[in-house]
Amino acid sequence: MPKPQGIQGEPEGRNRTRLAGQAFASTMAFKPNIDRLKPMLYPSTRGHCPPVRLDEALRAGLAPDGGLYVPERIPGLEAATGIPGPDLSATAERVLAPFFADSSLAEDLPRITREALDLPLPIVEFNPGKSWMLELFHGPTAAFKDFAARFLAACLSRLRAEHEPVQTVLVATSGDTGGAVAAAFHRRPGFRVVILYPDGKVSARQAHQLGAFGDNVHCFRVQGNFDDCQRLVKRALNTPELASALALTSANSISIGRLLPQISYYAHSVSQLSAQIAQKVNLIIPTGNLGNALGAVLARAMGIPIGEIRLATNANRTLPDYFGGEDYRGRPGIATLANAMDVGDPSNFERLAWLYREADLRDSGIHAGSVTDEQIRRAIRRAWNEQGLMVCPHTACALELLRQQREVGDDRPWMVAATAHAAKFENVVEPLIEQTIEAPPALAALLERPSHAEDLEPDEDALATRLRALA
Ligand SMILES: *Cc1c(COP(=O)(O)O)cnc(C)c1O
Repeated sequence: MPKPQGIQGEPEGRNRTRLAGQAFASTMAFKPNIDRLKPMLYPSTRGHCPPVRLDEALRAGLAPDGGLYVPERIPGLEAATGIPGPDLSATAERVLAPFFADSSLAEDLPRITREALDLPLPIVEFNPGKSWMLELFHGPTAAFKDFAARFLAACLSRLRAEHEPVQTVLVATSGDTGGAVAAAFHRRPGFRVVILYPDGKVSARQAHQLGAFGDNVHCFRVQGNFDDCQRLVKRALNTPELASALALTSANSISIGRLLPQISYYAHSVSQLSAQIAQKVNLIIPTGNLGNALGAVLARAMGIPIGEIRLATNANRTLPDYFGGEDYRGRPGIATLANAMDVGDPSNFERLAWLYREADLRDSGIHAGSVTDEQIRRAIRRAWNEQGLMVCPHTACALELLRQQREVGDDRPWMVAATAHAAKFENVVEPLIEQTIEAPPALAALLERPSHAEDLEPDEDALATRLRALA
């Protein structure tokens, strides 16, 4: 791996004490002077291809050397006097402006953030003055991935020239990604979405939702597991003739266009809460591929008053073992109750390792803990019985780590990221809390629509035939 050059040392103009201690003037006018912002390039984590502008990184997804695109430096917040803004989209516009400094989308950024990020972002206090929950599940498919998928769609549709052929967004999903991407591109001119999900490995509601879009969204139920789906997608993307015939592109969490918007909801919520309690806010984040948590890591590096970051994984122990002192060792994923985090080799680890020197990473205020299925069940019951919270199995992992911190006397303010609505995992949660969970309106509307998926053998030729039939 090349020498990382990212977060080590202080980012430009950071002043954490000031940020942590004072209330932000949220009404103060903020006008980024786009011309004055330094251009931002995006190198690959592997360093075997030249850095590109954001437009190209967004279009490509993966870098040609197989690496992931990363911002060449972490901008400070010295120019952003009005953070948090009056709403999430305003904060996002301010925080993301430096990343868009050299993009043809820079002028459009305010419209992009309004279109994509105008979603509710409640902070729910559940232990007075000490514990909060950041609800990231109020988008159309009731999972945090809606923010990023909508942002990526808003960017890609603006980057598309009018007479370009229809692009095919091919996505393998263990449940939540497919829905978020489908919702974000549904009926968008110039795009079609093809979803592959493993038969029998997603919840009944997730399966229904994936097949309920119709129009330009095509859904295949693969007779195999998630790894089969992912392998089919990679093969198709790496088959040049197929990739060009269908203008294939991917929308999974390796895209920089999914990472950037995730900085903004941490910037918005933490600035708000930290101003109110006059302390840094510590975060616990349910983690699989490390995409969501990386948003928090970048927000903190920019100067947002985040203290410690704890990664809550399920029984997939790759990150907890690494942060516990072992060498990094990717491995096959294990199936758990928190299925959207069944990842044994998180792809975004490569970004984290690039941003920090390897030696500093374990000294970076990032920690990780693993939670078993039995602990997930207990955490779901406890949250309902003791706090009246209905939580999904992923959020339950984070609550379990919080409970462990409190048990050893940790009295600091913690905010837990709630990544999906419990109604999406009703098969797990309802029997535990002995309550019916009502789906939020957007999800309920999807569940009322008819759903259609076609069976697909886990075979690349079978997929190629189906794809050609769509073009
Ligand atoms: C995808 C997902 C996660 C894991 O997020 P990463 O960005 O992959 O770490 C956690 N919870 C839910 C509900 C998800 O859908």
